[in-house]
Amino acid sequence: MPQSIAGPEIERLIQLLARLPGLGPRSARRAALFLVKKKDTLLEPLARAIAEVAEKVRLCSACGNVDSCDPCTICADPRRDYAIIVVVEDVADLWALERAGATRGRYHVLGGCLSPLDGIGPDDLNIATLIGRAKAGGIAEIILAVNATVEGQTTAHYITDLLAGSGVKVTRLAHGVPVGGELDYLDDGTLTEAMKSRTPF
Ligand SMILES: [Zn+2]
Repeated sequence: MPQSIAGPEIERLIQLLARLPGLGPRSARRAALFLVKKKDTLLEPLARAIAEVAEKVRLCSACGNVDSCDPCTICADPRRDYAIIVVVEDVADLWALERAGATRGRYHVLGGCLSPLDGIGPDDLNIATLIGRAKAGGIAEIILAVNATVEGQTTAHYITDLLAGSGVKVTRLAHGVPVGGELDYLDDGTLTEAMKSRTPF
């Protein structure tokens, strides 16, 4: 057990910060010191923001997104296209698509992907509500924006099977050459997929 360098409150702050993604003990100590030094301008506003988020954060009952309101900001936005549902594995994927401004549709967050080895089956994911939304009417297209991993694609196939005969068009993201990518650096699987998914110029 390393010797404490500060009182128990600050030590606790360091320990909690060290659990954040991308922060180890060393960077957590630096962050804690920075916060303590900026008590008025950073530490107190941050503490208030965290308390407020902790109080208000919830899952959207429609799409599974995380937000401080239910339905979430995106589901409640009347400018979104209600006929399109973009299915993602995680909220991080939703945020990535939003950053890119890639779609005007709404989302459905599965909360992971099917992974029998890890004991994750359909009942562990937000799939039943997706099928419910798809069959409730008014949906023209479901875009499966899941990861291009074996588990992601297995999940996509599973959902596609469930939606067969529903009259909803089911599409998936293209697999292939990334924007700015050089062919020589791509793996064999990506090259083969890119060749299969080629489009007219
Ligand atoms: Zn929502």
